[in-house]
Amino acid sequence: MTYVVGVTGGIGSGKSAATAEFEKLGITIVDADVVARQVVMPGSPCLRAIAEHFGAELLTEKGELDRKALRQRVFSNSEDKEWLNHLLHPAIREEILTQLKLAQSPYVILSAPLLLENKLEKYCHRVLVVDVPETKQLQRTIQRDNSPKEEVEAIMKAQLSRAERLQKADDILNNNGTIESLQQQVNQLHQRYLAAIIAQEK
Ligand code: ADP
Repeated sequence: MTYVVGVTGGIGSGKSAATAEFEKLGITIVDADVVARQVVMPGSPCLRAIAEHFGAELLTEKGELDRKALRQRVFSNSEDKEWLNHLLHPAIREEILTQLKLAQSPYVILSAPLLLENKLEKYCHRVLVVDVPETKQLQRTIQRDNSPKEEVEAIMKAQLSRAERLQKADDILNNNGTIESLQQQVNQLHQRYLAAIIAQEK
């Protein structure tokens, strides 16, 4: 199995900024959020199952999943929510594993906001946590998404706390500083991962 580095961090911590830098170094990124959208693309078995279960009104005119309608549908019904999770979680997991296996770069990154919450770290050789103080996390997310403070705080509350996440980290990227500082740390981590692979192969 390819050497897998799991990248995680709370909302707005800088996962996308960090993985973009790894990508520039030629590293393949498997993004759990992207996979979650891929498994419900038009023509996919999951989308077919959703349309059969909930009805065609969950599809847009283009035949794509109407995410907002689906969210509203499962929001108030725990049975429907459970049914959906039961369908999507194994499909997402399987697709993640397929993409990890297909990766051609020296190591591959699995980026997931809920890497630890969903126990995806079992597929990773190392866990890299992108870390910022909560105040900065809130500030950067509000600026990026233009979302109300309360909404971002609610998402943060549903995720692991900063301390819990840090406790599970093998490596920590401190993203409290500038983008240049983030780039510098990514370069150092990249060298460290390459060295770890070479050591492993000996
Ligand atoms: P995540 O993917 O973890 O949700 P992002 O990578 O999207 O977080 O970062 C959140 C926001 O903060 C984005 O708008 C991003 O451009 C900005 N950002 C990330 N790192 C830094 C940094 N070191 N300095 C300034 N802005 C940053």
